[in-house]
Amino acid sequence: MNIKNCKECGKLFQYDGISRLCFKCRKKDDEDFRKVKEFLYENPKETITVVAEETEVSEDKILRYLREGKLEIVGDNPGILLDCESCGKSIRTGRYCDQCAHDIERGLKSGFERQERPRKDLTKNRMYITEMKKNRK
Ligand SMILES: [Zn+2]
Ligand SMILES: [Zn+2]
Repeated sequence: MNIKNCKECGKLFQYDGISRLCFKCRKKDDEDFRKVKEFLYENPKETITVVAEETEVSEDKILRYLREGKLEIVGDNPGILLDCESCGKSIRTGRYCDQCAHDIERGLKSGFERQERPRKDLTKNRMYITEMKKNRK
C-alpha cells in the first residue's frame, strides 16, 4: 500500500498514482475548478481578482489551473494573462508558448532558463495580484 500526505490538507491517504490530493481535497479541487470554469464561461472578460472573489477560489489556484492547462483563457481577456516561463510572451494556457514548448521538446532550451522579458502588458495584472495579496490576513 502506498500512503502519502495530501498536498492540500496534509492528511494521510492512499495514493493511487494519479493525484497528490486526498479524496476530499480532490473533490473540492474539482468543484473549485468547475466554479471557475463556469464563471469564466459566463464572464470571459473578468480579471483574475474578480474571478477569485466571485468563485471564492484563490488566485493561486486559478493560476495553477491555467498552468496545468486545465483552464484556458477565452478570447482576448486583458484581465487574465499568463506569460511564457521562458520568453515572457503572453499565452492562454500552460507554461510555455508554442515556440518555446517546441524548442524545449527538441532540447534546444532548458525549461528553467529565464531571459529578459517584456513586462509592459503584464503590469496591470500583476498589480491586481499584489494588491490582493496585501489585503489578505
Ligand atoms: Zn486533503
Ligand atoms: Zn516562449
